[in-house]
Order: sequence, then structure tokens, then C-alpha cells
Amino acid sequence: MKCFRLFPFFKILYEISNMTRLTRRFRPFQSKQIARRISLIYLAAAGLLLLLFKQFQEALGEQDIVLPRLENYQAMLFIALTGGLIYAVTRRYVAQFDRGEKGLREVVQSVSAAVGQAFFQTLVEQLSKSLQADYAFIGERTAENPNRIQVIAAFAHGRSIPNFEYDLSGTPCVNVLAGKPCCYEKNARLLFPKDQLLARMKVDSYIGTPLFDSTGQAIGLMVVMDERPVQDQLEAESLLQIFALRAAAELERLRNEKAIRRLAFYDPLTGLPNQQLFKQHLTQSLEQAEEADSQLAVIFLDLDRFKTIVRTLGHTLGEQLLVAIAQRLTRCLRPSDLLARLSDDEFTLLMPRMSTPEEIASMAAELLGCLKAPFTFVEHELHITASIGIAIYPHDGADAETLLKNADAAMSRTKEMGRNNFQFYYPELNQMSLQALIMENKLHQALDREEFQLRYQPQLHLQSGQIVGMEALVCWKHPDRTMVSPADFIPLAENTGLIQPIGEWVLRTACEQNILWQKAGLPPQKVAVNVSARQFYQQDIVALVARVLEETGLEPRWLALELTESVIMQDVETTKCTLHRLKEMGVQITIDDFGTGYSSLSYLKQFPIETLKIDKSFVDDLPRDSEDKGITAAIIAMAHTLGMDVVAEGVEREEQCSYLKSIHCDKIQGYLFSPPLKADDLGQLLTHQLERACSG
Ligand code: C2E
Ligand code: MG
Ligand code: MG
Repeated sequence: MKCFRLFPFFKILYEISNMTRLTRRFRPFQSKQIARRISLIYLAAAGLLLLLFKQFQEALGEQDIVLPRLENYQAMLFIALTGGLIYAVTRRYVAQFDRGEKGLREVVQSVSAAVGQAFFQTLVEQLSKSLQADYAFIGERTAENPNRIQVIAAFAHGRSIPNFEYDLSGTPCVNVLAGKPCCYEKNARLLFPKDQLLARMKVDSYIGTPLFDSTGQAIGLMVVMDERPVQDQLEAESLLQIFALRAAAELERLRNEKAIRRLAFYDPLTGLPNQQLFKQHLTQSLEQAEEADSQLAVIFLDLDRFKTIVRTLGHTLGEQLLVAIAQRLTRCLRPSDLLARLSDDEFTLLMPRMSTPEEIASMAAELLGCLKAPFTFVEHELHITASIGIAIYPHDGADAETLLKNADAAMSRTKEMGRNNFQFYYPELNQMSLQALIMENKLHQALDREEFQLRYQPQLHLQSGQIVGMEALVCWKHPDRTMVSPADFIPLAENTGLIQPIGEWVLRTACEQNILWQKAGLPPQKVAVNVSARQFYQQDIVALVARVLEETGLEPRWLALELTESVIMQDVETTKCTLHRLKEMGVQITIDDFGTGYSSLSYLKQFPIETLKIDKSFVDDLPRDSEDKGITAAIIAMAHTLGMDVVAEGVEREEQCSYLKSIHCDKIQGYLFSPPLKADDLGQLLTHQLERACSG
């Protein structure tokens, strides 16, 4: 039939309809109008063709060209019928797109103004409504937990439902997160029998699309599910894909916002709130406390000797230790408390609902108690203590800054008082801190100004009654001419690091003095020098001792180093290694203040120790106190079994001396025999002893 020559017009028509489909995404025409226009265009074009058909054929040079009238009518009828058909089909086709567009418009309008959680909530609601799906949800996958999905917005059977989390394994979501949209038109439950969620929700059809971040990583997914098979797959997939981009961007924006907030308000190492967040909370809590006319407490916790540990064992272990400490401290908290990491080894605790000082004291004791058990790392067992200061609103300050400052001052006082304890703030503390600051400034200049002096306290052998050694004790002649005891400035020197140059000066001076006595013809004596933790761990103490001995010419056997138990136990492995190197050199090792620390016999056995000095606190009440009698006798027996000498410190009375002699203590040191003396005075004492020996 000649009318089939009209076929190219159907093709044109198809293109027009295609264009219309695209333009309809943007221009809200009525489906009837569109269908009418397309049909009219068709009718006009076909009519025109029919009218001009003769001229075309003439132009082409064909002679037998006149269409019979009947055929003309038939062609017109055909055009009219197909025009009607085109109208009907196009109208239906366009109406379908109309519905899609209406849904799209509705979703766009609802979500365009929303951001954050509201955006996701509106989106799932609109998706569920416009696709007439029973369920719609958006889920997020985090790097910390890649096998689970955290649902951030969900809509089910016409209402929002609470967010939930589910395991990815065996679910269609795994396939979606693998990177491409998935559609299971029906029987989704049968296809994924392990998916409990699908079973519980009686899901039959599932359509999901992944949400990609800007790096192309699937960070979440958007899903619609229905209890029936998919109604209109094309429409559902189109809608999901159109909104996947916006949802992914919003999800990534929220993630970035969260990351920025974490960086700004949380300590990246321990995950605890940082100083800024703590201050914000404290300020808010202060406002509430003022309104409610109640009290609150700020606890300032500083780890003891933490910097020494880091310097000795390195930053990595220091960081691991901080994380472990933060975890332990967190376990002590009540739900209302806020623990923060203020800086390196400083933590602060806000107790907004505080009833009595006893309650705070028991919390402080609990915090100290939770650090008691040693922290075990691959090679190290670390004993950690902390010092705590407490300030209470409103007595100790009305604002965050003052409360923190005062809690800090109380903490510093705890440190001065011997650490591993807690202290409430009192107003005189600030004055004391000021004095400490002034002292620190003066201490910096003391070495240059040669204000340090050494005193030597002799040690007496109980059986022979002879001086068999002495301890070098540093003292400071303060610019205001008063003598400052080492107990008052050594902790400050340790905290500021000044202990290193001071310690080196003490070591060198004591060795030089010992050589001077020897050169004066006195019998050689062993001089003991105190070594603090910072000296022992932070610098190469072995190299320092070797250098000083070489430079002064003192034989190593005439030098002893005194270390307290707490120093040697800070890091057992390092101690063992250092002490053995010193021992190989010929230098002797003494444990000072024995009994006050927490060294164990098993450790003592591993260290090359020559002498134990029983702490003065066990000697003070001898021989009256039966407990102290038992302890000193046991220490002496134990030390002798391990082949060590024993010196009793702080012997002031004759009766102490007699008792110590009766339990076979080797030596004593104390005011009974002699206080610490200037070098010249001790030289005279040694000369008398020599003369007595020569004359006797
Ligand atoms: P320490 O090593 O246990 O020294 C013994 C302390 O007890 C000395 O106090 C000494 O004067 C005192 N003492 C001795 N006998 C008696 C007594 O019979 N009765 C009483 N009440 N006290 C007695 P000092 O000189 O005040 O030293 C205190 C602490 O300062 C020392 O304790 C030591 O730990 C530290 N120290 C002293 N000099 C140095 C030093 O050069 N370097 C380091 N790192 N620490 C030092
Ligand atoms: Mg000592
Ligand atoms: Mg001592």
C-alpha cells in the first residue's frame, strides 16, 4: 500500500514524543494537551503529504500518478484512525510520565529546603509515598564497622520508625554496596533467605541504590521495599537514582561536619572530650548550678612522672599508655560526669551533680585506685600513679577558668606533698604557687651563681665502729642567705629538668672531693650520690658516670649510686640493663628509702644491688614498735640472704643503734653519729679516725 510511505512520519512522531518526554521533566504540560498536539501535528503532516503527493510524483517525473478518489478517501480514513490511535497511545504514555513527574516534583519540593537529619527523614517519607512502597530507608556504612549498616532514616507503612542497625551479611544490601543499583522485582525474601529483616517485614520487592562519596566509595544506600511485587520499576529506579546524588552529598557533608566537630572538640588519641568541650560543658553546668543553687566539682588529674616514661620508653608506648589510662578512668564515671583530656598527661573531670565533699573524695580515691594495677605492654609492666586537685563551685570559683586554675593549684600541692594522692583547694595555695614560681626562677640561676653546696653524712660500721662511707647531700644557699633543704627544691628541679645539670654537678663535686681526701692521705671511702628518676632514665647515666670518673680520676669502686625503689621500678627492663652496665664498670648500687616503695623480691634478685638502706620511717620507733622491729629484722635477713649490705637511715638514739646492732644491721647513718657535714669537717673526722687507728 502506498500509504505505507507514511512510515517515516511515525519515526518523526516517535522522536517528537521522545523530546516531549525529556522536556516534560522540566515543563509541567497536561497529558491531554501533549497528546492533542502530537496528533494534530501528525494529522497536519499526513494531510499535507496527501495533498502534495501528486506534485511530488510529478516532480519525480512519474506519469501514472493520479490517485483514485477512493484510495484518497481510504488514505484519509487511515490517517484519521492512526491519528486517533496516536492520540490515545501518547496520552496514556505521557500521563504515565506525568505521574512520575508529579511524584518527582513533590519529592523535590519537600526535600529541597531540608538539611541533615530532616532531609533524610523527608526523603524516605516522600519516596515511600510517591512510589507507594511499604518501606523506604537510608543507611550509612562506617569505616569502623564495615559489616553493619546504621539506618539513619526509615519510613514504614506510612510513619517514621526509629533508626536501627543491622548486619549486612546475606542481605541484598551487600550487592548494592558493591557499587551498582539492584532491583529484585519480586520474591526478594526467597532470594535472600538469611536476611531476617526481609522476612520480618514480609518484603517481596526490593530496589536499592548505592550512595557514593566524592572519592567514589559507597558510604551508604537508599532502599525502597514493598510487600508486593514492584509496581513501576522504571519510575522507582529513576526516583532513587535522581535523589541518590543529593543524599550522598548530604551524607558526606554530615560526615565531614562530624569529623570537623571531632577534631575541634575531641582528643584524637583517647576519644575523650578536649579542653574546649570541657570548658563549654563546665560553663553550661555552672549556669545550671547557679539556677538550682547547687554545687559542682572540678577534678584535675595529672599523671605522676609520665614525662619521664615517655622520654624513656618513647612516644608510641606513651600514647598506648594514655589510651589505656583514659579507658580505666572512664570506667569510674557516673553517667552525669564528664571526663576530658586537657593536655599531655592532664585529665579533668566535671561532677555536675555533687552532693558532699565526701562523695568527691571517694571519687578521687576511686580514680587513684583504678590506676593501681600495673599497665602491661609487650615488654613493659608500668606502675602509674596520679596526683589530683579538687575545686568546688561556688566556694573555690564562680567561673570555668578560676575553677580549673584552682583545681590545678590543688593538684600541684598534691605533687609537692609526695604525689599519688588528692587535695582540695584552699585559698593559700595560690600564694604558695606564686612562691614556687619565684623559687623556680631563682633555681635557674643557682648553678651559675654557685649557690649549691654539698654536705657529706658519714656511715658508721656497727661492728667496727669505723666510718666506712658517706652520702653526698646537696643543699642550696638561697640568695636571701637561708639554707634550702633538698627536700624543698629537688622535686622542683625534677619537674623543670634542672635536676640534670644539678645532678651532674653533685656527681662531679662528690668524686672530686673523694679524690681530694685520698690525695690528703686519708683511707679511701665510698661516696654515695643520689640519682633521681629523670637523671636515671632521661640521660645516658652510664656514659655520664664513666666520663666523670675518668675526668676526676676516681676509681669506680669508691662511688655508689643511690636509687629509690620507685625509680628502679618505673621500668624494670631499662633498670636491669643500666644497673648491669654500671656494675660492670665497677660502680656500686644502693637502694634508698627501702620499704616505702613497691619493689618485689623477685625484681630485687635480678638487679645487681650491693646495699639496702632501710627508710627512716621504720627506724624512728625502734625498738618500741613491735611491727617496725619485725619489718627491720625481716629486711636485714632478706638482704643478707641476697648478699646485700644494710644501712639503717635516720638513727638518732642510742637504743635504736643497740637494737639494730642486735639484729645484725651492718651500718647506720644518722644524727646520733653525725649530721651531714661540710667537706672540711668530714675530712677532720676521717683524720681523727685515722690518727686513732694509728695510735691504737
Ligand atoms: P635521702 O637520700 O634519704 O637522704 C637522707 C636524708 O635524711 C637527708 O636529708 C639527711 O639529712 C636526712 N637525715 C640523715 N640522718 C638523719 C637523722 O638522724 N634524722 C633526720 N631527721 N634526718 C636525717 P636531706 O639532706 O634533707 O635530703 C633529703 C632528700 O633529698 C634525700 O633523701 C634525697 O632523696 C634528696 N637529695 C639530697 N641530695 C640529693 C642530690 O644530690 N640529688 C638528688 N637527686 N636527690 C638528693
Ligand atoms: Mg639517699
Ligand atoms: Mg634515704
